[in-house]
Amino acid sequence: MDYDFDLLTIGAGSGGVRATRMAATYGAKAAVVEEYRVGGTCVIRGCVPKKLMVYASRYGEDFDDAAGFGWHVPHAKFDWATLIANKDREIARLEGLYRKNLGGAGAAIFEDRAVLRDPHTVHLLKANKTLTAKTVLIATGGRPWIPEEIEGNDLAITSNEAFHLKDLPRCVMVVGGGYIAIEFAGIFKGLGSRTVLVHHGDEVLRGFDREIRERMRHEMQKRGIDVHLKSSVVSIRAHNGRKLVRLSDGTEQEVDEVMFAVGRRPNTGGLGLEHCGVELTSRRAVAVDAYSRSSQANIYAVGDVTDRVNLTPVAIREGAAFAETVFNDAPTAVDHVDIPTAVFGTPEIGVVGLTEEAARAQFDKVDVYKTAFRPMRATMSGRDTLIFMKLVVDGASDRVLGCHVMGESAAEMIQCVAIAVKMKATKRDFDATVALHPSAAEELVLLKTKA
Ligand code: NDP
Repeated sequence: MDYDFDLLTIGAGSGGVRATRMAATYGAKAAVVEEYRVGGTCVIRGCVPKKLMVYASRYGEDFDDAAGFGWHVPHAKFDWATLIANKDREIARLEGLYRKNLGGAGAAIFEDRAVLRDPHTVHLLKANKTLTAKTVLIATGGRPWIPEEIEGNDLAITSNEAFHLKDLPRCVMVVGGGYIAIEFAGIFKGLGSRTVLVHHGDEVLRGFDREIRERMRHEMQKRGIDVHLKSSVVSIRAHNGRKLVRLSDGTEQEVDEVMFAVGRRPNTGGLGLEHCGVELTSRRAVAVDAYSRSSQANIYAVGDVTDRVNLTPVAIREGAAFAETVFNDAPTAVDHVDIPTAVFGTPEIGVVGLTEEAARAQFDKVDVYKTAFRPMRATMSGRDTLIFMKLVVDGASDRVLGCHVMGESAAEMIQCVAIAVKMKATKRDFDATVALHPSAAEELVLLKTKA
Protein backbone atom coordinates (compact mmCIF):
# COMPACT_ATOMS: atom_id res chain seq x y z
CA MET A 1 0.00 0.00 0.00
CA ASP A 2 1.16 3.53 -0.79
CA TYR A 3 1.36 6.03 2.05
CA ASP A 4 2.01 9.78 1.87
CA PHE A 5 4.98 9.33 4.22
CA ASP A 6 7.23 6.57 5.49
CA LEU A 7 7.35 8.33 8.85
CA LEU A 8 5.03 10.86 10.42
CA THR A 9 6.21 12.16 13.77
CA ILE A 10 3.84 13.97 16.12
CA GLY A 11 5.79 16.48 18.21
CA ALA A 12 8.90 18.42 17.21
CA GLY A 13 10.78 18.25 20.50
CA SER A 14 14.20 16.76 21.16
CA GLY A 15 13.19 13.12 20.57
CA GLY A 16 10.87 13.73 17.62
CA VAL A 17 13.27 15.98 15.76
CA ARG A 18 16.23 13.60 16.19
CA ALA A 19 14.17 10.61 15.02
CA THR A 20 12.71 12.45 12.02
CA ARG A 21 16.04 13.88 10.89
CA MET A 22 17.81 10.54 11.14
CA ALA A 23 15.00 8.68 9.37
CA ALA A 24 15.13 11.25 6.54
CA THR A 25 18.92 10.84 6.36
CA TYR A 26 18.38 7.09 5.94
CA GLY A 27 16.16 7.81 2.92
CA ALA A 28 12.73 7.82 4.52
CA LYS A 29 10.09 10.28 3.33
CA ALA A 30 9.55 11.90 6.72
CA ALA A 31 7.49 14.71 8.22
CA VAL A 32 6.83 16.11 11.66
CA VAL A 33 3.61 17.72 12.90
CA GLU A 34 3.96 20.35 15.65
CA GLU A 35 1.17 22.47 17.09
CA TYR A 36 3.33 25.00 18.96
CA ARG A 37 7.00 25.79 18.27
CA VAL A 38 9.75 23.59 16.84
CA GLY A 39 12.19 22.58 19.60
CA GLY A 40 9.78 21.26 22.22
CA THR A 41 10.02 21.62 25.97
CA CYS A 42 13.80 21.57 26.26
CA VAL A 43 14.49 24.36 23.79
CA ILE A 44 11.35 26.48 24.08
CA ARG A 45 10.28 26.27 27.74
CA GLY A 46 12.64 23.97 29.59
CA CYS A 47 16.33 23.16 29.87
CA VAL A 48 17.71 25.91 27.62
CA PRO A 49 15.82 29.01 28.83
CA LYS A 50 16.07 27.65 32.40
CA LYS A 51 19.87 27.39 32.20
CA LEU A 52 20.11 30.91 30.77
CA MET A 53 18.09 32.14 33.74
CA VAL A 54 20.24 30.12 36.15
CA TYR A 55 23.31 31.91 34.76
CA ALA A 56 21.52 35.24 35.28
CA SER A 57 20.63 34.34 38.85
CA ARG A 58 24.22 33.60 39.88
CA TYR A 59 25.74 36.98 38.99
CA GLY A 60 24.56 38.48 42.27
CA GLU A 61 26.76 36.09 44.26
CA ASP A 62 29.62 36.65 41.83
CA PHE A 63 29.44 40.43 42.34
CA ASP A 64 29.47 39.93 46.12
CA ASP A 65 32.32 37.41 45.97
CA ALA A 66 34.42 39.74 43.82
CA ALA A 67 34.96 42.08 46.78
CA GLY A 68 37.22 39.55 48.51
CA PHE A 69 39.45 39.61 45.43
CA GLY A 70 39.83 43.38 45.48
CA TRP A 71 37.05 44.39 43.12
CA HIS A 72 34.82 47.29 44.00
CA VAL A 73 31.53 46.57 42.29
CA PRO A 74 29.08 49.46 42.40
CA HIS A 75 25.57 48.49 43.54
CA ALA A 76 24.48 46.13 40.77
CA LYS A 77 20.96 46.44 39.35
CA PHE A 78 19.07 43.68 37.58
CA ASP A 79 16.56 44.24 34.76
CA TRP A 80 14.10 41.37 34.22
CA ALA A 81 12.81 42.73 30.88
CA THR A 82 16.33 42.65 29.39
CA LEU A 83 16.88 39.07 30.54
CA ILE A 84 13.57 37.87 29.11
CA ALA A 85 14.05 39.67 25.78
CA ASN A 86 17.60 38.34 25.34
CA LYS A 87 16.52 34.85 26.39
CA ASP A 88 13.62 34.96 23.87
CA ARG A 89 15.98 36.06 21.11
CA GLU A 90 18.29 33.12 21.81
CA ILE A 91 15.37 30.67 21.88
CA ALA A 92 14.10 32.03 18.54
CA ARG A 93 17.61 31.54 17.08
CA LEU A 94 17.68 27.92 18.28
CA GLU A 95 14.20 27.27 16.93
CA GLY A 96 15.40 28.55 13.56
CA LEU A 97 18.31 26.10 13.66
CA TYR A 98 15.98 23.19 14.46
CA ARG A 99 13.76 24.11 11.51
CA LYS A 100 16.77 24.49 9.23
CA ASN A 101 18.19 21.11 10.24
CA LEU A 102 14.88 19.35 9.65
CA GLY A 103 14.54 21.00 6.25
CA GLY A 104 18.18 20.24 5.44
CA ALA A 105 17.58 16.55 6.09
CA GLY A 106 14.61 16.66 3.70
CA ALA A 107 11.86 16.37 6.35
CA ALA A 108 8.63 18.36 6.05
CA ILE A 109 7.13 20.36 8.94
CA PHE A 110 3.35 20.74 9.40
CA GLU A 111 2.42 23.42 11.94
CA ASP A 112 -0.80 21.90 13.10
CA ARG A 113 -2.46 19.70 15.67
CA ALA A 114 -2.49 16.02 14.73
CA VAL A 115 -5.17 13.49 15.66
CA LEU A 116 -4.90 9.82 14.73
CA ARG A 117 -7.92 8.46 12.89
CA ASP A 118 -6.48 4.96 12.58
CA PRO A 119 -2.95 3.53 12.94
CA HIS A 120 -1.88 4.88 9.54
CA THR A 121 -4.03 8.01 9.19
CA VAL A 122 -3.38 11.37 10.82
CA HIS A 123 -5.80 14.26 10.57
CA LEU A 124 -4.44 17.80 10.72
CA LEU A 125 -7.02 19.90 12.54
CA LYS A 126 -6.13 23.42 11.35
CA ALA A 127 -5.55 22.49 7.72
CA ASN A 128 -8.44 19.99 7.82
CA LYS A 129 -6.28 17.62 5.87
CA THR A 130 -5.51 13.92 6.17
CA LEU A 131 -2.07 12.35 5.80
CA THR A 132 -1.17 8.68 5.76
CA ALA A 133 2.04 7.13 7.01
CA LYS A 134 3.56 3.67 7.20
CA THR A 135 5.07 4.40 10.63
CA VAL A 136 3.85 6.91 13.19
CA LEU A 137 6.05 8.20 16.02
CA ILE A 138 4.44 9.79 19.08
CA ALA A 139 6.87 12.31 20.58
CA THR A 140 4.48 14.74 22.24
CA GLY A 141 6.36 15.04 25.55
CA GLY A 142 4.72 16.03 28.82
CA ARG A 143 3.19 19.06 30.46
CA PRO A 144 3.11 20.57 33.94
CA TRP A 145 -0.09 20.37 35.96
CA ILE A 146 -1.66 22.03 38.99
CA PRO A 147 -3.65 19.91 41.49
CA GLU A 148 -7.32 20.26 40.61
CA GLU A 149 -8.54 20.16 44.22
CA ILE A 150 -6.82 23.39 45.25
CA GLU A 151 -9.30 26.23 45.56
CA GLY A 152 -8.23 29.13 43.35
CA ASN A 153 -5.72 27.04 41.39
CA ASP A 154 -6.40 29.17 38.29
CA LEU A 155 -4.44 31.94 40.04
CA ALA A 156 -1.26 29.84 40.03
CA ILE A 157 1.27 29.43 37.24
CA THR A 158 3.67 26.68 36.11
CA SER A 159 7.18 26.89 34.69
CA ASN A 160 5.59 27.51 31.25
CA GLU A 161 4.35 30.92 32.38
CA ALA A 162 7.36 31.68 34.60
CA PHE A 163 9.49 32.12 31.47
CA HIS A 164 7.25 34.95 30.30
CA LEU A 165 6.27 36.91 33.40
CA LYS A 166 6.03 40.64 32.72
CA ASP A 167 7.90 41.49 35.90
CA LEU A 168 10.11 39.68 38.37
CA PRO A 169 7.77 38.87 41.28
CA ARG A 170 8.83 40.61 44.48
CA CYS A 171 7.70 37.55 46.39
CA VAL A 172 7.13 34.11 44.91
CA MET A 173 5.98 30.77 46.27
CA VAL A 174 7.30 27.69 44.50
CA VAL A 175 5.40 24.46 45.20
CA GLY A 176 7.18 21.12 44.83
CA GLY A 177 10.53 19.62 45.77
CA GLY A 178 11.81 18.17 42.50
CA TYR A 179 14.09 19.40 39.73
CA ILE A 180 11.96 22.29 38.55
CA ALA A 181 11.02 23.56 42.01
CA ILE A 182 14.63 23.59 43.21
CA GLU A 183 15.89 25.22 40.02
CA PHE A 184 13.24 27.95 39.93
CA ALA A 185 13.53 28.66 43.65
CA GLY A 186 17.25 29.28 43.00
CA ILE A 187 16.52 31.46 39.97
CA PHE A 188 13.96 33.67 41.72
CA LYS A 189 16.03 33.99 44.89
CA GLY A 190 19.20 34.79 42.94
CA LEU A 191 17.42 37.49 40.95
CA GLY A 192 16.14 39.14 44.12
CA SER A 193 12.64 37.77 44.84
CA ARG A 194 11.65 36.79 48.35
CA THR A 195 11.24 33.06 47.77
CA VAL A 196 9.14 30.51 49.64
CA LEU A 197 9.40 26.81 48.82
CA VAL A 198 6.46 24.64 49.86
CA HIS A 199 6.93 20.88 49.61
CA HIS A 200 4.64 18.10 50.81
CA GLY A 201 7.46 15.63 51.57
CA ASP A 202 9.78 15.48 54.58
CA GLU A 203 12.77 16.39 52.40
CA VAL A 204 13.36 17.86 48.92
CA LEU A 205 14.53 15.85 45.89
CA ARG A 206 13.11 12.41 46.58
CA GLY A 207 15.17 9.77 44.80
CA PHE A 208 18.47 11.58 45.31
CA ASP A 209 21.06 10.53 47.89
CA ARG A 210 19.79 11.36 51.38
CA GLU A 211 22.82 13.48 52.31
CA ILE A 212 22.63 15.45 49.07
CA ARG A 213 18.96 16.15 49.74
CA GLU A 214 19.58 17.45 53.26
CA ARG A 215 22.63 19.48 52.28
CA MET A 216 20.84 21.03 49.31
CA ARG A 217 17.92 22.13 51.47
CA HIS A 218 20.36 23.54 54.00
CA GLU A 219 22.25 25.50 51.30
CA MET A 220 18.96 26.89 49.99
CA GLN A 221 17.97 27.99 53.48
CA LYS A 222 21.41 29.60 53.97
CA ARG A 223 20.75 31.66 50.85
CA GLY A 224 17.50 32.88 52.33
CA ILE A 225 14.90 30.61 50.72
CA ASP A 226 12.05 30.03 53.17
CA VAL A 227 11.55 26.24 52.98
CA HIS A 228 8.31 24.68 54.30
CA LEU A 229 8.44 20.86 54.39
CA LYS A 230 5.45 18.57 55.04
CA SER A 231 3.31 21.42 53.85
CA SER A 232 0.92 21.94 50.98
CA VAL A 233 -1.27 24.61 49.45
CA VAL A 234 -4.93 24.49 50.43
CA SER A 235 -6.28 27.58 48.67
CA ILE A 236 -5.25 30.68 46.75
CA ARG A 237 -7.24 33.94 46.82
CA ALA A 238 -6.72 37.18 44.94
CA HIS A 239 -5.98 39.97 47.41
CA ASN A 240 -5.06 43.58 46.52
CA GLY A 241 -3.41 42.52 43.27
CA ARG A 242 -1.46 39.82 45.11
CA LYS A 243 -2.20 36.22 46.09
CA LEU A 244 -3.15 35.05 49.54
CA VAL A 245 -2.11 31.43 49.96
CA ARG A 246 -3.43 29.23 52.75
CA LEU A 247 -1.12 26.36 53.68
CA SER A 248 -2.02 23.02 55.27
CA ASP A 249 -0.55 24.14 58.61
CA GLY A 250 -3.20 26.87 58.73
CA THR A 251 -0.81 29.78 58.08
CA GLU A 252 -1.28 32.30 55.25
CA GLN A 253 1.31 33.89 53.00
CA GLU A 254 0.83 36.88 50.70
CA VAL A 255 2.86 36.54 47.52
CA ASP A 256 2.92 37.90 43.96
CA GLU A 257 3.07 34.57 42.15
CA VAL A 258 2.49 30.91 43.07
CA MET A 259 4.36 28.53 40.78
CA PHE A 260 3.55 24.81 40.84
CA ALA A 261 6.29 22.33 39.93
CA VAL A 262 4.73 19.08 41.09
CA GLY A 263 5.78 16.84 38.22
CA ARG A 264 4.78 16.57 34.59
CA ARG A 265 2.20 14.40 32.86
CA PRO A 266 2.55 12.64 29.50
CA ASN A 267 0.79 14.40 26.61
CA THR A 268 -1.41 11.56 25.41
CA GLY A 269 -4.83 13.25 25.58
CA GLY A 270 -6.75 14.11 22.41
CA LEU A 271 -4.36 12.29 20.08
CA GLY A 272 -6.85 9.61 19.08
CA LEU A 273 -4.65 6.85 20.50
CA GLU A 274 -7.77 5.03 21.65
CA HIS A 275 -8.80 4.51 17.98
CA CYS A 276 -5.51 2.77 17.26
CA GLY A 277 -5.06 0.10 19.90
CA VAL A 278 -2.22 1.98 21.60
CA GLU A 279 -2.04 0.91 25.25
CA LEU A 280 -1.28 3.44 27.98
CA THR A 281 0.36 2.88 31.37
CA SER A 282 -1.37 3.68 34.67
CA ARG A 283 0.18 7.17 34.44
CA ARG A 284 -1.31 7.55 30.93
CA ALA A 285 2.06 7.32 29.18
CA VAL A 286 2.42 5.34 25.95
CA ALA A 287 3.50 1.82 26.94
CA VAL A 288 6.47 0.76 24.79
CA ASP A 289 8.95 -2.09 24.52
CA ALA A 290 12.75 -1.77 24.57
CA TYR A 291 12.64 -0.59 20.94
CA SER A 292 10.06 2.11 21.73
CA ARG A 293 7.33 0.19 19.91
CA SER A 294 3.78 0.53 21.27
CA SER A 295 1.15 -2.19 21.42
CA GLN A 296 0.19 -1.17 17.84
CA ALA A 297 2.94 -2.55 15.58
CA ASN A 298 3.44 0.54 13.35
CA ILE A 299 3.19 3.13 16.14
CA TYR A 300 6.26 3.99 18.23
CA ALA A 301 6.82 6.55 20.98
CA VAL A 302 9.92 8.23 22.41
CA GLY A 303 10.72 10.77 25.13
CA ASP A 304 8.64 12.04 28.04
CA VAL A 305 5.38 10.76 26.54
CA THR A 306 6.65 7.27 27.42
CA ASP A 307 7.56 8.31 31.00
CA ARG A 308 10.74 6.23 31.18
CA VAL A 309 13.62 8.54 32.16
CA ASN A 310 12.33 12.04 31.48
CA LEU A 311 15.49 13.81 30.34
CA THR A 312 16.30 15.46 27.00
CA PRO A 313 19.42 13.40 26.17
CA VAL A 314 17.43 10.24 26.85
CA ALA A 315 14.67 11.33 24.45
CA ILE A 316 17.35 12.06 21.85
CA ARG A 317 18.87 8.60 22.35
CA GLU A 318 15.45 6.98 22.11
CA GLY A 319 14.70 8.92 18.91
CA ALA A 320 18.00 7.87 17.37
CA ALA A 321 17.55 4.22 18.43
CA PHE A 322 14.07 4.24 16.87
CA ALA A 323 15.46 5.54 13.56
CA GLU A 324 18.22 2.89 13.62
CA THR A 325 15.70 0.15 14.34
CA VAL A 326 13.02 1.08 11.83
CA PHE A 327 14.89 2.86 9.03
CA ASN A 328 18.41 1.44 9.13
CA ASP A 329 17.68 -2.21 9.78
CA ALA A 330 19.77 -2.09 12.99
CA PRO A 331 17.53 -2.93 15.98
CA THR A 332 18.78 -0.72 18.83
CA ALA A 333 17.49 -0.60 22.39
CA VAL A 334 18.38 2.32 24.66
CA ASP A 335 20.36 1.52 27.78
CA HIS A 336 18.72 3.44 30.63
CA VAL A 337 21.36 2.54 33.26
CA ASP A 338 23.83 5.01 34.80
CA ILE A 339 22.41 8.12 33.19
CA PRO A 340 24.06 11.23 34.64
CA THR A 341 21.74 14.01 35.73
CA ALA A 342 22.02 17.48 37.24
CA VAL A 343 19.79 19.78 39.21
CA PHE A 344 20.73 23.34 38.29
CA GLY A 345 19.90 24.85 41.62
CA THR A 346 22.36 27.08 43.45
CA PRO A 347 24.52 25.28 44.40
CA GLU A 348 24.09 22.69 41.68
CA ILE A 349 23.93 18.94 42.00
CA GLY A 350 25.38 16.34 39.63
CA VAL A 351 24.86 12.62 40.11
CA VAL A 352 25.40 9.34 38.32
CA GLY A 353 24.65 5.79 39.43
CA LEU A 354 23.25 4.51 42.68
CA THR A 355 22.54 6.47 45.82
CA GLU A 356 24.02 5.09 49.04
CA GLU A 357 20.53 3.90 50.08
CA ALA A 358 19.89 2.09 46.76
CA ALA A 359 23.36 0.49 46.82
CA ARG A 360 22.84 -0.79 50.39
CA ALA A 361 19.54 -2.32 49.31
CA GLN A 362 21.18 -4.14 46.37
CA PHE A 363 24.71 -5.05 47.55
CA ASP A 364 25.95 -6.92 50.64
CA LYS A 365 28.91 -4.67 51.38
CA VAL A 366 28.92 -1.02 50.40
CA ASP A 367 31.86 1.32 51.02
CA VAL A 368 31.24 5.04 51.10
CA TYR A 369 33.87 7.72 50.62
CA LYS A 370 32.89 11.33 51.11
CA THR A 371 34.16 14.81 51.75
CA ALA A 372 32.75 18.26 52.38
CA PHE A 373 35.11 21.18 51.95
CA ARG A 374 35.23 24.90 51.41
CA PRO A 375 35.92 25.68 47.75
CA MET A 376 39.16 27.61 47.19
CA ARG A 377 37.24 30.61 45.85
CA ALA A 378 35.29 30.85 49.11
CA THR A 379 38.48 31.17 51.16
CA MET A 380 38.92 34.69 49.72
CA SER A 381 35.31 35.63 48.99
CA GLY A 382 34.27 34.59 52.48
CA ARG A 383 31.14 32.85 51.16
CA ASP A 384 29.71 30.33 53.57
CA THR A 385 29.31 27.33 51.28
CA LEU A 386 30.65 23.79 50.95
CA ILE A 387 31.30 21.38 48.12
CA PHE A 388 30.11 17.88 48.95
CA MET A 389 31.25 14.69 47.19
CA LYS A 390 30.36 11.08 47.76
CA LEU A 391 31.51 7.89 46.06
CA VAL A 392 29.45 4.75 46.61
CA VAL A 393 31.53 1.62 46.03
CA ASP A 394 30.70 -2.11 45.91
CA GLY A 395 32.88 -3.52 48.69
CA ALA A 396 33.16 -6.91 46.99
CA SER A 397 34.20 -5.89 43.46
CA ASP A 398 35.56 -2.38 44.27
CA ARG A 399 33.38 -1.02 41.45
CA VAL A 400 32.19 2.59 41.78
CA LEU A 401 28.40 2.33 41.82
CA GLY A 402 27.56 5.98 42.25
CA CYS A 403 29.02 9.46 42.41
CA HIS A 404 27.22 12.42 43.97
CA VAL A 405 28.49 15.99 43.88
CA MET A 406 26.94 19.20 45.18
CA GLY A 407 28.65 22.52 44.53
CA GLU A 408 30.10 24.69 41.80
CA SER A 409 30.50 22.90 38.45
CA ALA A 410 28.96 19.66 39.78
CA ALA A 411 27.20 19.04 36.45
CA GLU A 412 30.41 19.48 34.47
CA MET A 413 32.26 17.08 36.80
CA ILE A 414 29.58 14.41 36.67
CA GLN A 415 29.43 14.30 32.88
CA CYS A 416 33.09 13.17 32.89
CA VAL A 417 32.81 10.86 35.91
CA ALA A 418 29.84 9.21 34.18
CA ILE A 419 32.21 7.80 31.53
CA ALA A 420 34.21 6.04 34.23
CA VAL A 421 31.11 4.78 36.03
CA LYS A 422 29.62 3.54 32.74
CA MET A 423 32.92 1.73 32.04
CA LYS A 424 32.58 0.05 35.46
CA ALA A 425 35.66 1.77 36.85
CA THR A 426 36.80 0.63 40.30
CA LYS A 427 37.82 2.73 43.25
CA ARG A 428 41.38 1.58 42.48
CA ASP A 429 41.04 3.18 39.00
CA PHE A 430 39.99 6.44 40.63
CA ASP A 431 42.97 6.17 43.05
CA ALA A 432 45.38 5.47 40.17
CA THR A 433 44.33 8.70 38.44
CA VAL A 434 46.63 11.63 39.23
CA ALA A 435 44.88 14.68 40.66
CA LEU A 436 44.59 17.90 38.68
CA HIS A 437 45.63 20.64 41.04
CA PRO A 438 44.23 23.01 42.15
CA SER A 439 40.69 22.04 41.31
CA ALA A 440 37.63 20.90 43.24
CA ALA A 441 37.27 17.80 41.05
CA GLU A 442 40.65 16.48 42.18
CA GLU A 443 39.07 15.47 45.48
CA LEU A 444 37.24 12.73 43.57
CA VAL A 445 40.53 10.89 43.04
CA LEU A 446 41.91 11.71 46.48
CA LEU A 447 39.21 10.14 48.65
CA LYS A 448 41.08 7.79 50.99
CA THR A 449 39.04 7.15 54.13
CA LYS A 450 35.94 5.00 54.20
CA ALA A 451 33.06 6.76 55.90
P1 NDP B 1 9.81 15.96 39.74
O1 NDP B 1 9.24 14.63 39.50
O2 NDP B 1 11.28 16.16 39.72
O3 NDP B 1 9.30 16.53 41.11
C1 NDP B 1 7.94 16.66 41.40
C2 NDP B 1 7.83 17.19 42.81
O4 NDP B 1 6.47 17.46 43.10
C3 NDP B 1 8.32 16.19 43.84
O5 NDP B 1 9.02 16.87 44.82
C4 NDP B 1 7.03 15.59 44.38
O6 NDP B 1 7.18 15.20 45.70
C5 NDP B 1 6.09 16.77 44.28
N1 NDP B 1 4.68 16.40 44.10
C6 NDP B 1 4.20 15.40 43.35
N2 NDP B 1 2.86 15.39 43.40
C7 NDP B 1 2.49 16.40 44.21
C8 NDP B 1 1.25 16.90 44.66
N3 NDP B 1 0.10 16.36 44.28
N4 NDP B 1 1.26 17.96 45.49
C9 NDP B 1 2.42 18.52 45.89
N5 NDP B 1 3.62 18.09 45.48
C10 NDP B 1 3.66 17.03 44.66
O7 NDP B 1 9.08 16.89 38.69
P2 NDP B 1 9.40 18.34 38.13
O8 NDP B 1 8.07 18.93 37.81
O9 NDP B 1 10.30 19.07 39.03
O10 NDP B 1 10.17 18.00 36.79
C11 NDP B 1 9.58 17.12 35.83
C12 NDP B 1 10.62 16.27 35.18
O11 NDP B 1 11.35 17.07 34.27
C13 NDP B 1 11.65 15.70 36.13
O12 NDP B 1 11.28 14.44 36.60
C14 NDP B 1 12.90 15.63 35.31
O13 NDP B 1 12.96 14.35 34.75
C15 NDP B 1 12.70 16.67 34.24
N6 NDP B 1 13.56 17.83 34.49
C16 NDP B 1 14.92 17.67 34.42
C17 NDP B 1 15.75 18.74 34.66
C18 NDP B 1 17.22 18.56 34.60
O14 NDP B 1 17.68 17.57 34.06
N7 NDP B 1 18.01 19.47 35.17
C19 NDP B 1 15.23 20.07 34.96
C20 NDP B 1 13.80 20.11 35.03
C21 NDP B 1 13.02 19.03 34.81
P3 NDP B 1 7.56 13.71 46.13
O15 NDP B 1 8.40 13.15 45.04
O16 NDP B 1 8.30 13.87 47.42
O17 NDP B 1 6.24 13.04 46.26
